[in-house]
Amino acid sequence: MFDVDAIRAQFPILSREVNGKPLCYLDNGASAQKPQVVLDTIQRAYGQDYANVHRGLHTLSTISTENYEAVRGTTAKFLNAPSEDHIVFTSGTTEALNLVSYGWAAPRMKAGDEIVLSIMEHHANIVPWHFLRERLGVKLVWVETDVNGDLDPQAVLDAVTDRTKLIAITHVSNVLGTVVDVKSICTGARAKGVPVCVDGSQAAVHMPVDVADIGCDFYAITGHKLYGPSGSGAVFIRPERMAEMVPFMGGGDMIRDVHRDTVIWNDPPHKFEAGTPGIVQTIGMGAALNWMMDIGMDNIQAHEADLTAYARMRLDGLNWLNVQGKSANKAAIFSFTLDGAAHPHDISTVLDKKGVAVRAGQHCAQPLMEHMGINATCRASFGVYNTQAEVDTLIDALELCHDLFA
Ligand code: PMP
Repeated sequence: MFDVDAIRAQFPILSREVNGKPLCYLDNGASAQKPQVVLDTIQRAYGQDYANVHRGLHTLSTISTENYEAVRGTTAKFLNAPSEDHIVFTSGTTEALNLVSYGWAAPRMKAGDEIVLSIMEHHANIVPWHFLRERLGVKLVWVETDVNGDLDPQAVLDAVTDRTKLIAITHVSNVLGTVVDVKSICTGARAKGVPVCVDGSQAAVHMPVDVADIGCDFYAITGHKLYGPSGSGAVFIRPERMAEMVPFMGGGDMIRDVHRDTVIWNDPPHKFEAGTPGIVQTIGMGAALNWMMDIGMDNIQAHEADLTAYARMRLDGLNWLNVQGKSANKAAIFSFTLDGAAHPHDISTVLDKKGVAVRAGQHCAQPLMEHMGINATCRASFGVYNTQAEVDTLIDALELCHDLFA
């Protein structure tokens, strides 16, 4: 049985106050809070078991290496990847997407080649491709969302030409919450011989992810949004693509032998992990992924579907508030503006006085903002520990904003 109170009790931070009010944390899209089991795992990894990984034969190094490497299997299970060898650890999605850009895309692209993107990508899934545009003359081809913020998978496939070398697409928009039908995109792209790189930063926290079923070539996740530590993350890479990749960063661990005139790479996935990694961050991410799987991703999805329906109903009831993105298939992420002159920054400041944490701004998605013709929004993004009562708290605080700014 899913028990939100029992889940909340596992997050020490949720019992604190902000500005004299109980914390109502609705900024999960930016980063999620951490349950006690993750905090305990970090404490133990540093306090009892700490040493560098892959380097020593002493006891602590062996324990640390085992704990760290175990997360590869946990991550493979979380994503339903066929093997833990298909998982490369990164510091988060930004590093993962840069790895794909430098390690896979750059060596195989030339001037005039094309990358298809949606207009609602996060900058992390835009700027690494801009590098290729600037340095190699690669063309970025943008596919727009419709008025509801939905992305037609066929429109993405129609944008593919014989110059297309990659489709880079988010699974869930960090601004609108739209769930993209990445499986249809991958199926169609495969028939055309075009690899697909999926940014799973926002999706993996809200729904079960099955990379084998989706059929993607790359799938990036970030630990800090998955109730784990910042500085952790991973990318699933289809073995055919991994075999095509060159290392992105050089250093210790990613090599087997280094001589004056030659180097021999370590086996994948280690070949793509240079230097001392985020040892404790990754171990903490493993604890977070296990914690989510213990609750059950289906249960998390069901709880958040109820929250989404309730929040949608309550927000739609405010006729001076404009929710951006009306997709029927939406994760628990709501961007909105208020009628009148109030800037989203002012709104979030007022909400903060009521203990309500939301994000305001462009959400690292400027092309989407330009497409929608707005400068900024407020974003309330929900997680597994949020409740309908917190939706009510948000609504009360927004009504106060309306009274203040109308
Ligand atoms: N993509 C999306 C859709 C995101 O929401 C974010 C985080 N804001 C990122 C990429 C960047 O991830 P990270 O914080 O791990 O670099």
